[in-house]
Amino acid sequence: MVGAGVGGLAAAARLAAGGHDVTVCEQSEVAGGKLGEQVVDTPVGTFRFDTGPSLLTVPQVFADLFHDTGAPLESVLDLVPLDPVARYRFPDGTTLDACPDHDEVCRRMDAAFGGSAGADWHRLWQRAERIWTATEGPFLRSPVSGAPALLRQARHVRDLATIAPWRTLRDLGRSYLRDPRLRMLLERYATYTGSDPRRAPAALAAVPYAELAFGGWYVRGGLRRIADALVARCTELGVTLRTGTDVVSVDVAAGRVSGVTLAGGGRLPADVVVANADANHLYTDLVPVPAALRRLRRATPSLSGFVLLLGVRGHTPGLAHHTVFFPADYDAEFDAVFGTPARPVEDPTLYLSVPDDPAAAPAGHEAWFVLVNAPRHGSGAGAVDWTDPGRADAYAARLLELLADRGHDVRDRLLFTRIRTPADLERDTRAVGGAIYGTSSNGPLAAFLRPANRSPLPGLFLVGGSAHPGGGLPLVVLSAQITASLIGPA
Ligand SMILES: Cc1cc2nc3c(=O)[nH]c(=O)nc-3n(C[C@H](O)[C@H](O)[C@H](O)COP(=O)(O)OP(=O)(O)OC[C@H]3O[C@@H](n4cnc5c(N)ncnc54)[C@H](O)[C@@H]3O)c2cc1C
Repeated sequence: MVGAGVGGLAAAARLAAGGHDVTVCEQSEVAGGKLGEQVVDTPVGTFRFDTGPSLLTVPQVFADLFHDTGAPLESVLDLVPLDPVARYRFPDGTTLDACPDHDEVCRRMDAAFGGSAGADWHRLWQRAERIWTATEGPFLRSPVSGAPALLRQARHVRDLATIAPWRTLRDLGRSYLRDPRLRMLLERYATYTGSDPRRAPAALAAVPYAELAFGGWYVRGGLRRIADALVARCTELGVTLRTGTDVVSVDVAAGRVSGVTLAGGGRLPADVVVANADANHLYTDLVPVPAALRRLRRATPSLSGFVLLLGVRGHTPGLAHHTVFFPADYDAEFDAVFGTPARPVEDPTLYLSVPDDPAAAPAGHEAWFVLVNAPRHGSGAGAVDWTDPGRADAYAARLLELLADRGHDVRDRLLFTRIRTPADLERDTRAVGGAIYGTSSNGPLAAFLRPANRSPLPGLFLVGGSAHPGGGLPLVVLSAQITASLIGPA
């Protein structure tokens, strides 16, 4: 296994439970990949931040994983349901608390927006439920390898008209939702796949469906505890986890994989190699598979994220566990992130996660995670050089100013600020450009261009957010299930 992100660890656990002898090579000193953690010790006590995921959705896929590989989920992790899942603040000052009780959320929409908001959302919800039902089995839980296979599977999907692959998420929102604030809410879910709602498929309406139907969850102690639990499960199953072990190539002999070569020259022979590394890094740097690389390069890379970790004195009224502040001009955000030249978003959507958990911050303090969408790191026209001296500091100051504009000026309550740019994400996890989800879902062909779990090179398999079925914790865990089933038991 190359990489110990969530997908790599989940696949390792499943394969070991199936009798395979599994070694995981992770270049970083810690396992978990994007599911990272930063601990900051200060004179007033310790702050602990999740640097990646802050919201767990579709917990059933984790329950399946832990059940299938040993003791159940509830014996290893303490999941806390959230209400609201997120508090949304719109540019006109309206607030909506989204929750998993569908009737209640419709009532809240009526109260917040008036008109036919609740009824409109309900109609969209019914459509989204049909999309979820139509795609979960044939797409999210099944291997897909290229256009012909996807089309074959699409024929099995009873209701192609429901999925409407020719329509964008924006089109769908416009046909169901009259209130522009509700459209904004729907469109935000395109960013869960690193995409632009004006180009992402209507099928992504399944994302808010899954989030609100199955709930949004926190993990007591921080989401990072999921990585700890996965590492513990792998260890119990006899997986050898080698951190600080950089794979520099996937080796090929007689037309199939034969193992990996490590930095420093060591070799590990293997019948099967599973790459949890970003697919772009895999096919560009570790093993040349020209057809796979060509396909990958035709896709638009996903967006990245710029993160502030703030140690804040005192308590802030008005914040939920997750609070989202929408900007006045949502389109300008996607123009900046996906435009050429790409540029940091001047007035981005601000996403705050402030866990009410004593493990996160000392008493009388708060640990703020602030995330905004950002162009990926790099030197080309579609990227931004986030290592440019002064750029990250200036942008951090801009975000603090925007927070102040939106009613939360914490500048005189700050104990410290830590900045994580797309360049940091690339350095820490080898996600090329810090693109969180590998390729985006921009364009009707995107699903065809996402790398398959079975590589064209015999013996090489892919798992994780840059491969099928996509990024985000639940999909990555499904990816591990698909890959383990393709490999089969020992
Ligand atoms: C800021 C941020 C916020 C997010 N928020 C959420 C959220 O709220 N909810 C949610 O569900 N998801 C969220 N995500 C997405 C989620 O974190 C990812 O989709 C998921 O963790 C990716 O897992 P993965 O299996 O693809 O592995 P990755 O995390 O990409 O890990 C891959 C691993 O492979 C290792 N590796 C790469 N190359 C090599 C090599 N050559 N040799 C050895 N090791 C190598 C890397 O070091 C890394 O550890 C967020 C991500 C980020 C960055």
